Order: sequence, then C-alpha cells, then structure tokens
Amino acid sequence: MTELKGALIGCGFFAVNQMHAWNDVRGASIVAICDRDPERLKVVGDQFGIARRYGDAEALFADGGFDFVDIATTVQSHRTLVEMAARNKVPAICQKPFAKTLSDAKAMVEACRNAGIPLMVHENFRWQTPIQAVRNALEADAIGTPFWGRFSFRSAYDVFSGQPYLAEGERFIIEDLGIHTLDIARYILGDVRSLTARTKRVNPRIKGEDVATILLDHENGATSVVDVSYATKLSREPFPETLIELDGSEGTIRLTQGYGLQVTNAKGTTTTDVSPRLLSWASRPWHNIQESVYAIQQHWVDQLARGAEHSTSGADNLKTFALVEAAYDSAARGQTIDVGAML
Ligand code: NAD
Repeated sequence: MTELKGALIGCGFFAVNQMHAWNDVRGASIVAICDRDPERLKVVGDQFGIARRYGDAEALFADGGFDFVDIATTVQSHRTLVEMAARNKVPAICQKPFAKTLSDAKAMVEACRNAGIPLMVHENFRWQTPIQAVRNALEADAIGTPFWGRFSFRSAYDVFSGQPYLAEGERFIIEDLGIHTLDIARYILGDVRSLTARTKRVNPRIKGEDVATILLDHENGATSVVDVSYATKLSREPFPETLIELDGSEGTIRLTQGYGLQVTNAKGTTTTDVSPRLLSWASRPWHNIQESVYAIQQHWVDQLARGAEHSTSGADNLKTFALVEAAYDSAARGQTIDVGAML
C-alpha cells in the first residue's frame, strides 16, 4: 500500500495523542502541521520531527502535498476548516464535537458530499476495546434481543487542568463527554427516536452543567439511560471508563469497572478481562482512550484504501450530534424531543 500523507491542524492537548497514533498507524504519516499558536507549533513539530510548519491553515492548503487533513482544533474552527478541506478537495477527519450547531454540522456534511471527499468525525469512544467487546458479544447473540441498557460515566476526575476551556463554556458535560456516551448508546442499541434529559451544575467553579441523565427511546423498541457526571466522588475513581448494563431476552451483559465483561445466559456466567492495551506512548488512566485514537485512525486509512464509508462518517455523526442538541433542548424545556424530526 502506498503511504498516505497527512496534515494535522491544531497542535494542542489532545493532538499529541493523535500524532503518537499516526506514528503507529500502518499506511499513513503526517508530513505537515499547523497551529496559529507558534509555541504549540514548535513543541509538537520538535517532538515529532515535522519540518513543514504553518501558522495559517489557508497557507497549508495552498502549499498542498498531502492526501488528507486531520483537524484537531476546538469546535469554534471546525466548520471553517472542514469547508476549507472541501474547497481544496482534501479528505478530512474532524475532532468532536463536530460543530457548534446541528445546522452547521449538516452544512459541513453537505459541503464534503458536494466536493466528493470522505469526511470522518474523530468519535473514538466506540473504538475502545471494552466497547467493541460488548458489541461483539451482542452480535454473537449472547443475550438474545436487548430491551434495556444503561451507559454510565460517573467521575470526579479533574478534567479542567488539562482542558481549562471546559470550565468556561455555557455547555459542558453533554457536549464534551456525553456526546461520546450517546454515540456508544447508538452504536450498541441503534438509532434513537426520542429523548428526555435532565441536567445539573454541582461544581460552582464552572459555567456549564456537570451532571446529565438522559432517557433514550431507540428505534428498535429498546429503552436506555445515558448518565454522565463529573461531580461523583467514588472510593475508586473510574475515569475514563464507560460502564454498560444490557438486559436481553436471553441474558445480560455487564461491563464493570476495571474492564470486566460479564455475560450471563442459559449456559451460565462468563467473565472476561477486556482491558485495553497500554501502547508504548500511552499512560494510565488515559490508555483506554489513547488506544481508541490509534484504532479510529487506522480505520480511517483502511476504509480510504477500500473506498468504503467510515463507521463515524460525518453523516453518521449527525445522528449522534442531534442527540446532544436534543438533550439540551429537553433539559431546558422539560419536554421529550422527537429526534427523527431534527434530522
Ligand atoms: P487545545 O485548546 O489544547 O488545542 C487546540 C489547538 O488548536 C490550540 O493549540 C489552538 O491554537 C489550535 N487552533 C485553534 N483554532 C485554530 C485554527 N483556526 N488554525 C490553527 N490552529 C488552531 O484543545 P484540545 O483539548 O486539544 O481539544 C481539541 C479538540 O479535541 C476539541 O474539540 C476536544 O473536544 C477534542 N478532544 C477529543 C477527545 C477524544 O477523546 N476524542 C479528548 C479530548 C479532546
């Protein structure tokens, strides 16, 4: 396979994981980087030995010489940069949250479709080893037809030290973290017909909500609860694990803290260790997320080579993004939201 050349825009906190992962991915490497902050450009350029460095994305595209762009900036610039990629006919990966609003997200998908370029959202949580293990157990028919689920992320981890901007936005946990949990719920139990949400702010030092409880009606008739909190002090901190409970017609699945997968059915109960690998550049407790960054980037390259749609394509991600918008709307109005009508 010829090696694809990539350019990365946004050399901040999380992009370092993406750069490490690109070193490991088969079939692609990063040949140019861009950040409007000269200090970040230097830190990442020096750490990963990238000579081509740009302070301005227009200049990066004007010079060209790459096959795809990996947009790792925060949400404010996503629409501008994705549309720039579309104008230049360069396939694009865009970090989550995909856009500021659902109408922006729809416009970005449309721009890439019209330009005929693949667009993938870096929605990596469904690529975590334990989440894949749950999906595989369901696909192997281990519990029959699932009728109920719970997707839970409760923690008191200080995310604000690495990402100070998270304390400043009007919106916090649903937009930043719940977006992943909602995507996992869709990935495991299918698309969602309607949604009801309640939110709270417990930490007085932040602007947005840090607790959310969301009830999902899936199109296949299953019901699930997505509950997320950064205000939950536990005896053993689970960050950044998503815990899952699934009840099916023939049994149950439990993904428990410490990466245990318990499957109970007519044959009895089996418990398997579904821990993520600790990649050479990874560090605990982030290794679960870091491994999924590698997995989604490898998927990007593999699907490009096959000319096939990506699991978290822009079009797919509209259905996750709609759940985020619906959750805020539901919490504000105290009403159930028809998700299908938003798409
Ligand atoms: P950050 O603020 O540390 O880094 C963003 C960088 O982008 C900064 O260096 C900034 O100077 C640069 N930038 C912004 N706009 C630019 C532009 N128009 N042109 C060039 N450079 C520009 O943010 P972060 O914490 O690294 O988060 C980046 C994105 O990653 C966010 O959308 C965040 O939600 C997401 N994220 C995803 C995960 C995950 O697991 N998928 C985890 C953490 C963060």
